[in-house]
Amino acid sequence: RPNSLAARDGAYHFHGYTNALKNEQEGGFVVTRGDGPFIYTEEGKEYFDGLSGLWCCALGFGPQPRLIEAARRQMEILPYYHTFTQKVATPTVELAEKLVGLAPVPMSKAYFCNSGSEANDTAIKMVWYFNNALGRPQKKKIIARNKAYHGVTIASGSLTGLPAVHADFDLPVPGILRTDCPHHYRFAEPGESEADFATRCAENLEKLILAEGPETIAAMFAEPVQGAGGVIIPPATYWAKVMPILRKYEILLVADEVICGFGRTGNWWGSQTYGMTPDLVTSAKQLSAGQAPIAAILINQPVYETLRDHSNRLGSFAHGLTYSGHPLAAAVALETLRIYEDLDIVARVRALAPHFARGMQAFAGHPLVGEVRQIGLVGAIELVRDKASHASFDSKLAVGPNLVRIAHDHGLIVRPVVDSICFCPPLVSTEQQLDEMFARFGKALEETHAWLRR
Ligand code: PLP
Repeated sequence: RPNSLAARDGAYHFHGYTNALKNEQEGGFVVTRGDGPFIYTEEGKEYFDGLSGLWCCALGFGPQPRLIEAARRQMEILPYYHTFTQKVATPTVELAEKLVGLAPVPMSKAYFCNSGSEANDTAIKMVWYFNNALGRPQKKKIIARNKAYHGVTIASGSLTGLPAVHADFDLPVPGILRTDCPHHYRFAEPGESEADFATRCAENLEKLILAEGPETIAAMFAEPVQGAGGVIIPPATYWAKVMPILRKYEILLVADEVICGFGRTGNWWGSQTYGMTPDLVTSAKQLSAGQAPIAAILINQPVYETLRDHSNRLGSFAHGLTYSGHPLAAAVALETLRIYEDLDIVARVRALAPHFARGMQAFAGHPLVGEVRQIGLVGAIELVRDKASHASFDSKLAVGPNLVRIAHDHGLIVRPVVDSICFCPPLVSTEQQLDEMFARFGKALEETHAWLRR
């Protein structure tokens, strides 16, 4: 249809993470409205969005009267002010105070950005600046894990541990060290317990630190649950083993809470779920329920004081963005956090999580399913060729992406990470809505199975 929005998108829009030629030929998948966990296309077809957009729309996709009002009020009062040279708009102050109050460990200050990538990029600069302030300019390397996702800018994209994000973008930049992805099902030795696997990951981390020289390593960045790497849930004892190593070598921990923050794992923060004690926390996405672009970095007192004193000597911390703490985004985020509190979102996630877990685990016995993993309201179902050996399908078959295409036909949006199918439904979903999501997934799984047997 030549004048459809889909066709116009194909003609005029170059999207990321999209096959551009296919988009030109077939046009975009144009979403025109939402209602709860459902979205509707130009043609009126309904989809359950099982990934909350991009792991962000905690409140679903329908209009939120309180957020509309918060945004409208702020547009009326003061649509823009910046955060440079001590200037700041009201909701930005209130949001900073609120975030420091909610932090997973005692934190001193909040710093605002517009996206998770920017927050991680900025956190890298903070860590470098911190070590320059302490007179150890050689302590700059950053550790990140295989299958990590920390964003796509030149620095945060370098931390990301997914080859597709690096290929032909000349990434990673130098100074990034890579350590194990703590995925027991995939990377444990035969017979190795979760606890022993966690010990081995920690030992490998320490070996890496000693081989590189601890005096050259500034920080480790880590997601509590690795999201875009395929919802990788660490062994229960992993962080208890990793934390002391980071402390021993004075390596800062930056917890990337961009997906886990604000209730996703059944606590306000994934750091609380896994016993991480970060020095900095980066957050975005559910901070505004995906409804305004905003991200925040929380900084603990010792790091903050060092940044403050060094920047005082230099004149200022010479880093900031036109839209850092944008009042409109801050007003929406502040109201989002109040909605979470009024809904008691953490209690709600905890109440719904067993139902979600049962729905996920119901697929564990299926011949195509190797592992089902979930925490809170995030999880993945990993498809395998052979359940006993965990052997994966030939990547040429593109089993995961094909299942996701079939799921589309059944009105379900889920994310394939190779052959792991990721689920991250809105936090306000009902049990019935989750049942509907799993019913649609079940049909797609059966059709995939039939296709593979052909
Ligand atoms: N960190 C994590 C854990 C993420 O999942 C993402 C995005 O998916 C990012 C960082 C990057 O955030 P953004 O896309 O807002 O730049």
